[in-house]
Amino acid sequence: MARPPRISDIDDANKDCIKCLGQGWVCENHPDRVAHECPCGGAGMPCTCNPLFEKGIQMLTSRQQFDEASKRLEEATTRYNNISMQNTVGLSAEERRDLDWRYRLARKDQIEAERAVAEIVHEHTAV
Ligand SMILES: [Zn+2]
Ligand SMILES: [Zn+2]
Repeated sequence: MARPPRISDIDDANKDCIKCLGQGWVCENHPDRVAHECPCGGAGMPCTCNPLFEKGIQMLTSRQQFDEASKRLEEATTRYNNISMQNTVGLSAEERRDLDWRYRLARKDQIEAERAVAEIVHEHTAV
């Protein structure tokens, strides 16, 4: 399972930037701090190293959607992995059916979340 892409993979920001730490986004009130990690709770905006900064494009909605989809993907993957690793030895037929059902549901969630992430990445790169 590949790691979810970082926003800098999408935005083409500087991965070695010391302001945004390669995330491509900084705090709106403190442009030398990583977005959403600043205690002031300010909104995020593109870092100066991010091509979006020059374009002046606000893509906060996409950023939030991306974060949410990535989180969903992570959760679904964890659930899926836990079920996959479960030992089936000694399980009754009914327990096996139940496990199989949860396995399919988790896999379905994972695929859907993967698609959602891919769609947002696609929208970003198409800009
Ligand atoms: Zn930066
Ligand atoms: Zn701040």
